Amino acid sequence: MEKSKYLLFGRLKDSQEYFIINPLTKQADIMEAATAEAFLKGEYENEADLIEKGYLVDPQEESRAYKRAYLDFIDERDADEIQIFYVPTYACNFSCSYCYQAEYTEQSLAYQPEIIDAFFSYVDREFAGRDKYITIFGGEPLLSNEPTKKNIAKLLEEATKRSLGIAIVTNGYTLKDYVPLFSDAFIKEIQVTVDGPQEIHDQRRMLHGGAGTFSQIIEGIDAALEAGIPINLRAVVDKENFPHLIELAHFATERGWSENPLFKTQLGRNYELHSCQSDQSKLYDRVSLYEDLYEMIKEHPEFLTFHTPAYSLSKFLFEHGEMPDPLFDSCPACKTEWAFDSSGRIYSCTATVGKDDEVLGTFYPKVTRADDIIEQWEERDVTTIPECKDCGLQLACGGGCGSVAKNRTGCIQSSDCRPVDKLLGMGLSLYFQQLTQD
Ligand code: SF4
Ligand code: SF4
Repeated sequence: MEKSKYLLFGRLKDSQEYFIINPLTKQADIMEAATAEAFLKGEYENEADLIEKGYLVDPQEESRAYKRAYLDFIDERDADEIQIFYVPTYACNFSCSYCYQAEYTEQSLAYQPEIIDAFFSYVDREFAGRDKYITIFGGEPLLSNEPTKKNIAKLLEEATKRSLGIAIVTNGYTLKDYVPLFSDAFIKEIQVTVDGPQEIHDQRRMLHGGAGTFSQIIEGIDAALEAGIPINLRAVVDKENFPHLIELAHFATERGWSENPLFKTQLGRNYELHSCQSDQSKLYDRVSLYEDLYEMIKEHPEFLTFHTPAYSLSKFLFEHGEMPDPLFDSCPACKTEWAFDSSGRIYSCTATVGKDDEVLGTFYPKVTRADDIIEQWEERDVTTIPECKDCGLQLACGGGCGSVAKNRTGCIQSSDCRPVDKLLGMGLSLYFQQLTQD
């Protein structure tokens, strides 16, 4: 018997104890320091228990279990709902300080019924028999001009005809005006970005010309929640607005949002995706953002009513009391995610949509597909990325983001490493020790 190839093992932050996890056998434990140190040296206390949980394994049996789990993963993914993004326009009424789309060429705004019809024909044909929903994305999809409103009305009408759910990613500025239009559609959620309390948000997410946008967005969120529409509030975080996140959490609680079952949140890390950020020093890397969240949550545990950070598997374990299935792939591009824009072009996902060198085909005026590139996206997972094949973190990491990996190396089949062990050390300590101590 030897240690599992997939063991996640490390010290809990601010503690003498260790965590030991096997994502393949879905076991997780906290180990006393002395037991862990002995384990590291290959001296096993209670060997039968370590074998039963899959921390010590027969490598051949483990390899068979890996193959079985991989086949289950593929089966489940094949049955998963597909998220289909549609970008009616890349135009936007904001000039956010960090916008990665700022360098994209804007398109003219026009009512485009034939293109929307062609998009739905493609969806009907290519994704027949699959559960799916449409996410309307931009630019800013909810601009207040007439052609934009007609495009949105047409998208809602065609989706509703097919009983497809709709999600919308918007800056929220015109949301209040649009809410009545959503009454007959099945709106899964509306994602709106708020970067902090008013003063901070308005310095980062302003209209062209510099006017603030916070008050209108807040009214839009209130109106949507009032109409029974789920809101996913996203804050894009860097070192400039991080100190004010707790104020945003308090604001959401005072407004009654945090306790509303229709309200959820996500934190997006402001990072360099395609264009050069003017000031790199304000950006967080994955570990430093979670380190600052750890300290902030220790001081303000009430932040968790607003947002509970994932810390790799930690949040799932904390909330479900069990391990998730092993993660052979963390990038849904061309598997359960696709993106389309009103120029008639097809892309792998939201990170690549609108980039000339990422086009995978067209749905209008005629259908074309770059099958060789699509195949590379479809095949990308920890079994095909060379660096991941022997990586012990693979079943919690999943190989990361294909777009980030491709931007780094030029190759889709390359890694975007997640600091899984460091995140687990922080998250398990926070959720299972720091916040539960008297
Ligand atoms: S490439 Fe990145 S952004 Fe796109 S689906 Fe994959 S993980 Fe998500
Ligand atoms: S992306 Fe990096 S950390 Fe993740 S499984 Fe691959 S090699 Fe390991």
